[in-house]
Amino acid sequence: MPERQVMVTRRPNIVIAISIVLASAILAIAVWVLAQMRDDALRRAQDSVFNVSLLVERDVSRNLEIYDLSLRAVLDGLKQPGVLDLKPAMRQMVLFDGSASAKDMGSILVTDEAGNVRFDSQATPPRQVNLADRDYFKVQRDSPNAGLFISHPFIPKVGGKDVSIALSRRITRPDGGFGGVVAGTMRLTYFHSLFAGMNLGVGGSMALMLSDGTMLMRRPYDPKMIGINLTGTANYSRFTEQPSGDFFGTAALDGVERWYAFRHIDMYPLILDVALSTRDIYAQWRHRAWIIGSLIAALDVTIIALAVLFSQQLRHRRAAEEELRVLACTDGLTGLFNRRTYEQQAEGEWRRAQRNARPLSMLLIDVDNFKGFNDLYGHSAGDEALIGVARCISQSVRRPGDTAARYGGEEFAVLLPDTDEAGATRIAGKICAAVEALQLRHVASSHCVLTVSIGVATTRGQAFATSRALVDAADEALYEAKDAGRNCVLCFGATTHATHAMHATLGTTSVAGTGTKKLLRN
Ligand code: GH3
Ligand code: MG
Ligand code: MG
Repeated sequence: MPERQVMVTRRPNIVIAISIVLASAILAIAVWVLAQMRDDALRRAQDSVFNVSLLVERDVSRNLEIYDLSLRAVLDGLKQPGVLDLKPAMRQMVLFDGSASAKDMGSILVTDEAGNVRFDSQATPPRQVNLADRDYFKVQRDSPNAGLFISHPFIPKVGGKDVSIALSRRITRPDGGFGGVVAGTMRLTYFHSLFAGMNLGVGGSMALMLSDGTMLMRRPYDPKMIGINLTGTANYSRFTEQPSGDFFGTAALDGVERWYAFRHIDMYPLILDVALSTRDIYAQWRHRAWIIGSLIAALDVTIIALAVLFSQQLRHRRAAEEELRVLACTDGLTGLFNRRTYEQQAEGEWRRAQRNARPLSMLLIDVDNFKGFNDLYGHSAGDEALIGVARCISQSVRRPGDTAARYGGEEFAVLLPDTDEAGATRIAGKICAAVEALQLRHVASSHCVLTVSIGVATTRGQAFATSRALVDAADEALYEAKDAGRNCVLCFGATTHATHAMHATLGTTSVAGTGTKKLLRN
């Protein structure tokens, strides 16, 4: 298995960590894309309001220019010698023939210095009205250099009741005195139609106001808005700061947040603003963001859920492998290590003992007359007895480096690193005594209870050439213990070729007269 694969298999949490990193990366990309889309939406709106404002400005300034040219034509006509002496029909032709006449243009009137209408583009003789109270008259009367003046909205005294504005110019007499005004009216419906033709979405707005903040036309149209003054509102303050610009602002009139583009109409005291509502600007983006966001969230949740499932499977697999590993090296009946594991351990410990010149002891333990026990008490009782013996062994062998194993059948083995013969004999004696203390009745045994015999072998330095030789020595000592009457411990002395025996019950120690072997009785 490749190293990386092993790492993933061993550490299931890495799978979850990787999935979280992956999900976060996908989320980050999605957020970035959505942010870009949002910026694009705003840019499109900015372009759109800029274009509309430019278009409307051009249309308005062009029409005002044409209308102003008409007023100038009348002024020029008035200066022509003999015009005033012409017959009314002729004079009408000379003065007003070049005048602009469009749908929303009203009449052009010429007044005297008192405000009385002298000439009327739409009637001969002129309609009898006095315009001295109108702002477009007063301004021209009071300011010789007013130039073209655009009035506040008003309802005309003659020629219809549509709210209109007037453009006026001063008539200056040859002596420089005030000689009246030339004024042309323009219905605000012109701006209404112009605004209505623009596509600004549901929440869009447009407004045309005089530079002093007086509203001339607004979309969405509300007649009550016409003529109100916007001075003091936040948006109007920004309109007056620069000739043109754009910004996010909230309308004082309806509280809607919008992106505004405004411009002062060239050469005229007029301000135009065009705005798209923030809601409209981001409507399509919001819809797409919901879809993309939901899909990404679902994808991320799926990735993490799959990773969690996968890591759970890995955990189960690891647990199963661990269980198999434990099963493979333990004995099913007693829970001690099995022979294979024991032999691997013995080989390793033997090498270590050789290397470090440390003692290594081994015990081989065999249950006495166990065949008879099985025959007398049954196989199940025999199994229980083996479990009891195994417990006695493991309770007597407690150091972390020690290894206790079932060697086969009713035989057990114990490996005691760094333990000399005396220490090993002491532990073997403890095992012998512990098994006898179980007091498992065994009438066929000369000891009347179940007992074990133990062979002990200890190596130090080159005492045994192989680990197998150490096992054989312990085995030999075990046979000697059987010969010595069972329920005892015998040590194989490799150098002295002496064997010590320790009888658990007799409580005496003696040396057998074999010449090469010692019999110790406790
Ligand atoms: P000795 O004192 O000389 O060792 O005599 P013994 O009867 O113990 O020796 P022998 O080798 O003749 O018999 C061993 C018996 O152990 C034979 C077998 O029935 C029994 N035995 C081996 N493994 C198991 C086991 O797992 N469970 C049970 N109940 N009995 C087992
Ligand atoms: Mg045996
Ligand atoms: Mg036996």
